[in-house]
Amino acid sequence: MAMTPEQIIRDEIRALAAYHVPDSQGMVKLDAMENPYGLPREIEEEIARLVATAPLNRYPDPAARTLKLRLRETMSIPEGAELLLGNGSDELIQMLALAVARPGAVLMSVEPSFVMFRLIADFAGMRYVGVPLGPGFELDLPALESALRTHRPALIFLAYPNNPTGNLFDAQAMERIIAMSPGLVVVDEAYHAFAGRSFLSRLTAHANLLVMRTLSKLGLAGLRLGLLMGGPQWLREVDKVRLPYNVNVLSQQVGELVLRHRELLDRQAAAIRAERTRLFARLSGLAGVQAFPSEANFILFRTAKADAVFAALKARAVLIKNLNGSHPMLADCLRVTVGTPEENDRFIDALGASLPRAA
Ligand code: PMP
Repeated sequence: MAMTPEQIIRDEIRALAAYHVPDSQGMVKLDAMENPYGLPREIEEEIARLVATAPLNRYPDPAARTLKLRLRETMSIPEGAELLLGNGSDELIQMLALAVARPGAVLMSVEPSFVMFRLIADFAGMRYVGVPLGPGFELDLPALESALRTHRPALIFLAYPNNPTGNLFDAQAMERIIAMSPGLVVVDEAYHAFAGRSFLSRLTAHANLLVMRTLSKLGLAGLRLGLLMGGPQWLREVDKVRLPYNVNVLSQQVGELVLRHRELLDRQAAAIRAERTRLFARLSGLAGVQAFPSEANFILFRTAKADAVFAALKARAVLIKNLNGSHPMLADCLRVTVGTPEENDRFIDALGASLPRAA
């Protein structure tokens, strides 16, 4: 008799809800931390010429050498640090988990944080431990130290700044965790462009530290390019679980081309930071809204009846992220990505009209 999904598919996979990406057609799209600015016409034309002649009949360079050289230059990766590329940083999280997933091995993070850390632990058959953040979304160092001693995680992820809370953790507390950890600590700097603070220069000081970044929030989410940096003794091993052609020809070539115009991406990030300040002030000015300070390209805020507010925004063609119900500390919380000034104005107007009226 043929076996059923219950007999074949692992229990922890069947228990998962599929990662849901809502339809955003025709909406002001402020749900996914994308850069709202496109590329200038000249660069689009350069890309069109490059794509027209790209060797699509050939497999890509498995080592992505040209792109890596360009990344080393533009990201000031320290001498001695190795570089591994992923199809987005999501794939790098998965490669790390696959490489360390001995039976019973623990993947640890803080909560609330990026949900893929827990999901990928499940995919890889690892045990997940989430240590709650303090009431102001700060690292709870005593709780983390005790969890480190109890669970001895093979792998820890700390997002810096954190998603969805937007704050930077205390650097000294991070150092303490890195120093105490028996395993690898990955500092996930997906939002680095909007924070300016980094652990990259500390790579050489800590043998168990890895730093991860992505080009997604910089304006290239569609290319799917993530970077992992750290000691060659680690990355050499993680590289063995990488599928040989994980970064396709177009992503390699277009990524390299756009990075030659890095100053443009930096200017866009600066515009997003300026808009974040304005958006935060406008959100904080709305009665009944509590906005949390952010060092990233999104702002978390709390309002009464968040589910209803989210639905009312959606009905006004503004899509943000509803975090109510995802974690007890995020009750009645919504997250908005910083868009263009026009998009942010539309969002604020729609929010003003969607908030529950005071009784
Ligand atoms: N890390 C963090 C903290 C994120 O918020 C995200 C995207 N939401 C990622 C990694 C993944 O980014 P990507 O796969 O696009 O590189």
